Amino acid sequence: MAEKIQAIRGMNDVLPGESQQWEYFEGVLRTLLTDYGYQNIRTPIVENTPLFVRSIGEVTDIVEKEMYTFTDSLNGDSLTLRPEGTAGTLRAVVEHNLLYNATQRLWYMGPMYRHERPQKGRYRQFHQVGIEALGFAGPDIDAEIIMMTADLWQRLGISDYVRLEINTLGNADERARHREALIRYLEQFVDILDEDGKRRLYTNPLRVLDTKNPALQAMADGAPRLIDYLGDASRAHYDGWKAMIAGIGVDFVENPRLVRGLDYYNQSVFEWVTTELGAQGTVCAGGRYDGLTEQLGGKPAPGIGFGMGMERVLLLLADKGLLPASSGTDIYLVSQGDGAPLYAMQLAKALRAAGYAVIQHMGEGSFKSQMKKADQSGARYAVIVGENELANDQAVLKPLRDGGEQETLGRHELVAKLAALKS
Ligand code: ATP
Ligand code: MG
Repeated sequence: MAEKIQAIRGMNDVLPGESQQWEYFEGVLRTLLTDYGYQNIRTPIVENTPLFVRSIGEVTDIVEKEMYTFTDSLNGDSLTLRPEGTAGTLRAVVEHNLLYNATQRLWYMGPMYRHERPQKGRYRQFHQVGIEALGFAGPDIDAEIIMMTADLWQRLGISDYVRLEINTLGNADERARHREALIRYLEQFVDILDEDGKRRLYTNPLRVLDTKNPALQAMADGAPRLIDYLGDASRAHYDGWKAMIAGIGVDFVENPRLVRGLDYYNQSVFEWVTTELGAQGTVCAGGRYDGLTEQLGGKPAPGIGFGMGMERVLLLLADKGLLPASSGTDIYLVSQGDGAPLYAMQLAKALRAAGYAVIQHMGEGSFKSQMKKADQSGARYAVIVGENELANDQAVLKPLRDGGEQETLGRHELVAKLAALKS
């Protein structure tokens, strides 16, 4: 036998059984996004590398060490598998001029790629659903996005297991002034900074504060706070956002250290966090990025969005037993005897036309082995056709899951009976 070829580490197959859970989650998301007026956008998985470098930022974890970047051997271009969805979406918005006299509420869903150490809730191919609301200055849209995500947790039944953290990053000038003060402050601690900290001191000092190193906590706690550098407009934006979140009844915690790992954010930032998934606790993260369209060569336009790690939400749903077990099959059709399979096939056609999902048993097999398959299929009912039923234009209806007696019914009675059971 030839040697087996395996999937790439950190990139997972979604097998039958699990795929139903994905479809359930995706279905809830599509309904939610439609309910809030969002439209789907689908961009390529591969983009020119400079798109990500310019938008996410040169000295971020993603660009420094996580991107799958390769050279197009035909023309030498540097290409990258998308590590997140905002850059590609905004590239498309600018390229197709979607903000000309218009605002946009957009959503995307699909695989993203980051070269990270695989562990529970962290993969090299993972999936995000995300939104971008463009052309709205906020803070009303910032609050609507919080409402929409809170609504999602409600619909999924996990509101009790997630908590909202928010912060503001101010505007570019305020960040620059704070940054200077922060660098001056951090320079006093250069001796105790770890490798990452030393490297980021002048490139991305805010991230030095985002440390998980307990030895650096006291230093981080005493650092100049961005909030003290905010001007009136930024302060009003933040206060307006908080008042609206409170007004729609969503609980939140202010976390002045929430900075996000991507460079393009300003003003409102937030994360939905769960304590149920260990270190991989952020299920949804987002914020405002008012300078990004301009940075990508478009006209200036305000924007805000989030990315949600779908595997992490599914892990949480699975942990709480909130995922559907059903295969979606209503009827498993079993038959035996001369002419019975064809009769069953015609019956299957009529049942599907009446709105049922039907699996017809294929090939030979005793009734017993066929019934075993029917049980394994997860179908609610078996419909059975033997020689007697064939001769009398009938079929047997047998409930598989909810108990109840089996009945012999005429072909037309069968459809009526099923309809009655469904309603
Ligand atoms: P983390 O701190 O967990 O690395 P991040 O700040 O890199 O997250 P973002 O770039 O904000 O994450 O992506 C948004 C969301 O996508 C995250 O909150 C998380 O739910 C999910 N996510 C990010 N990286 C991965 C990954 N490697 N595997 C699975 N989900 C991921
Ligand atoms: Mg990360």
